[in-house]
Formats: sequence, structure tokens, C-alpha cells
Amino acid sequence: MTAWSSQQSLLDELADIVGASHVLTDPGVVAGYVTDWTGHWQGHTIAVVRPADTGQVAAVLALCSRVGVAVVPQGGNTGLVGGSIPMDGEVVLSTTRLSVIEHVDPIGRTIGAGAGVTIARARDTAREHGVDLGVDLASRESATLGGIVATNAGGIRVIKNGDTRSQLLGVEAVLSDGRILTRWKELTKDNVGYDLPGLLAGSEGTLAVITRVLMRLVLPPSHTQVALAAVESVRSALAVVDRLERAGLTLDAAELMTKSGIDLVCEHHQLRPPLSAQTPFSLLVEVSGREDAQTTLLEVLDEFDKFVLDAVVEEGPAHRLWQYRESHTESVGAASSTPPVKLDISTPLRDIEAFLNDLTTGLRRSFPGVRAICFGHVADGNIHVNLLDVAPAQRETVSDFALRLVTEHNGSISAEHGVGRAKAPWITLGRSPVDLDVMRSIRAALDPAGILNPHILPARSP
Ligand SMILES: Cc1cc2nc3c(=O)[nH]c(=O)nc-3n(C[C@H](O)[C@H](O)[C@H](O)COP(=O)(O)OP(=O)(O)OC[C@H]3O[C@@H](n4cnc5c(N)ncnc54)[C@H](O)[C@@H]3O)c2cc1C
Repeated sequence: MTAWSSQQSLLDELADIVGASHVLTDPGVVAGYVTDWTGHWQGHTIAVVRPADTGQVAAVLALCSRVGVAVVPQGGNTGLVGGSIPMDGEVVLSTTRLSVIEHVDPIGRTIGAGAGVTIARARDTAREHGVDLGVDLASRESATLGGIVATNAGGIRVIKNGDTRSQLLGVEAVLSDGRILTRWKELTKDNVGYDLPGLLAGSEGTLAVITRVLMRLVLPPSHTQVALAAVESVRSALAVVDRLERAGLTLDAAELMTKSGIDLVCEHHQLRPPLSAQTPFSLLVEVSGREDAQTTLLEVLDEFDKFVLDAVVEEGPAHRLWQYRESHTESVGAASSTPPVKLDISTPLRDIEAFLNDLTTGLRRSFPGVRAICFGHVADGNIHVNLLDVAPAQRETVSDFALRLVTEHNGSISAEHGVGRAKAPWITLGRSPVDLDVMRSIRAALDPAGILNPHILPARSP
């Protein structure tokens, strides 16, 4: 049989499972599935397959296992490490039609929904019932529940609610041979054996395709206040965060930005600078919990005038102030002459400042044309390092420089976006040989055919 006829017979069998209109091959139609959000990762695929339910996912995977065709699971395709892109012609298994919200329980505070439900829709539905999704991120309109579980996404509420894994109660997932794994108990305590949902959290589509997700919900805060404060240093920003918590305020979010980042946002969106003081850093904090939160927030900012050189406070949700932070990713992309190198890293809080100083010095010395825009969830030690105007030939060396620097500062090469393709060459900076061996063994046990996203995380064989 020729390669063409075997490919055609695969497409025919896929069409038998999901319906011909859900096997996409037209280049114009598949373009959005084979290019990542940053524009850097551009792949190609035999077909994008869009199953409607778990049974169809199982049948697609069983078929692909049988014929040895690799599969890349894809949710909203907002991932920032190239993990959802078929760089080697894999079949894309899109979860967007797994979009049923099965239940919201406002008493037990749980939501059960299909993996393709977007974060914004899950959140809005939860809010209609007086509860809230504990995970939130700027990609909420497209990112999916399956995607945030697969990447163990963090986001702006980690400081209050924890990461996705810590809010995950159960999953339904399909193994590469088509078997369906179901852990679906709305229990806070359930210690029967290994934490398989926790294992799938952060597995980046390498162990199974998640088809349904059971998550904890949280109570929405009653009063929130948002402040944007001008500070001279990371140390000052962290001192303010510490003081706010000690004053009895609940910290919902704490985001660090630089002057150059805010300038880019202002330019891109034609906004006025939010503060009159021109300091190297700005801290955006959201606090909640008490009706007098605003007074306390203002008091702390006033009292800390040694650190806070200017500030503006607004009632939550304060979209105007949040826009300065949430528009960073988009503005950075628009301002760079090449797709930005995005390095999502973390260090212990005490190392952030030294890391940023060393990064600035090292870039100036060895990569003079490269601009760095750093921002992120500072109270988690998580900084998104965005490198702009990196020539294609420099991408690897500049990433290598920055990721080695993170390691020297006791940090992680991936705080919340995962490893994907982007960080795979540096995975040994983050994990020991034994650790990587164990990961490979787990992959081999769950996906013996080796078809699930075989080129990311630790590749299957050394
Ligand atoms: C503007 C912007 C802001 C962002 N902010 C944050 C942030 O604050 N915090 C953060 O952590 N991330 C952030 N991200 C990154 C991204 O949104 C998250 O990684 C998100 O979890 C990806 O979800 P998705 O549905 O788009 O997954 P995709 O991008 O489609 O896939 C991501 C990975 O998960 C796998 N996958 C997806 N769905 C499934 C499934 N059902 N079963 C198995 N594997 C699956 C894919 O194979 C891939 O490896 C941001 C991205 C953008 C563009």
C-alpha cells in the first residue's frame, strides 16, 4: 500500500468515528491548529480530528495506536511552550467539542465539565451559582479546563487558591490504547492508592487525553480592592505584599511589572501611564475580605511611603488597572520584530532581584540587541521573562543563558507553562537523571505505543 493510500484510509477511518465534517485537512482551516499563540511554532498535520464525546476520543486513540500514528491533544491552543503544535505531522486531537458543563454544586463547591469548556465559560457558569472557579488567567476566553489540567496552569490566583492540581478532584481520561480511566469522586478525602488525577495534572498530553474534569470551586470574594503602586525595587514590592498580609488583608493577586513593560502596553493600547511617579517597577495588588479593605489598603500604602512612591486604588474588579498587567503578553508580541522568546521561570523570593539584575547585565554584555520585558506573579516567585528582537539564530543561545542563570539562582526553568517543546532541551537543568528515568517509565506504562505527544517533556528514550 502506498503512503498516500494508507493516509487516506486513516482519514476514512477517522471520519467513520467522528463524522467527515470533523476531520479537518484543508490548509486554510487547519492553519489555526498548527501555529501556536506566539507564532513561533508552526507545524503541519495529517488532520485535525474533533471528537464529540469520550467514546469517540477512545476510538480515535485506539485507531492511532493500532496504526502507530502520533497524536497531539489540543485544547484552546493558548499554551506558550509549543506543546500543542504538531511539529512532526501528528494528528491533532482537538477537545473543543467536549463542551458540556455537567453540574455546578454551590454547596459542595464543585464543577464537573467537559475538557473543552473554556475557563471563562466555567467561571461565568460558576458565578451564576454564587461560586467561582479558583483558577484564572489572561487566556481565559480560549484556554480550556483540559488544558489547564494538562499544564497544571497557575495564573493570577495561585497565591490565594493554589495551582490547578491543588484544585483538581477528579478526571476522566482516555489512555492511548483507548481504555477510559475514571476518577470522579466529589470527596475532599479519598486516599485509595496513587493520585492519578494529580499525575495527569502537568502531564502536557503525554500520558492520556483528558476528556472530563472535576474541580473544586471557591467562594467569590465579597469586597475587592485593587492598587497599582510605584516602587523602586523588587524588594520594596515584596515588602508591601508582606505588610498587606500582616495587616489582615487577604491577598488575591500580586503582580510585578516594569516601567518598560507598562510603556509598551501604553503604546500598544494608546493608554495614559497609570501613575505619575516614574519608578523602575510597579506592583499591582488585589486584596479582599473585609468591607474596610479599602481603608486598610490605603493606610498600608500611606504608611509605607518609604517604599510606595505613588499609588492608585480602585474598587474591584478594576478592569482599567488590570488592563496594564493583562495586556502585557499581547503588547510584547506586537512590539517584538521576531516572535518573543518566552521563558516562564521561578526563583525563591529572596533571589528574584539578583536574578533580574544578572539577567539585565548578561543580556547587555552578550546580546546587546535583545530587549527584556519581565513581569509576573511576584509573590509566587514567578517571573515571565520575555525576550524581544531575538534573531532566529540567537534563540537557543539566549534561552540557554537565561535558563542557566535561573538554575544558578536556585530557580525552576518552568514555573507554570510546562516544558513542551520550548524547554525540552533544558529539562536536565530542572530534573535529575533518575527523576527523568522515572518519568519515562511512567510514560511507557501508560502509553506503550508511544503515540501521545512523543516529542515533548522528556522524550521517550534518552
Ligand atoms: C495571554 C496569555 C496569558 C497566559 N497566562 C497564563 C498564566 O497566567 N498562567 C499559566 O499557567 N498559563 C498562562 N498561559 C498559558 C496557557 O493559557 C495555559 O498553559 C493553558 O493552561 C493552556 O490551555 P489550553 O486549553 O489552551 O491548552 P493547549 O494550549 O491547547 O495545550 C497545552 C498543553 O496541554 C495539552 N492538552 C491540552 N488539552 C488537553 C487534554 N484535554 N488532554 C491532554 N492534554 C491536553 C497539549 O497537548 C499541550 O501540551 C497564558 C497564555 C496566554 C496566551
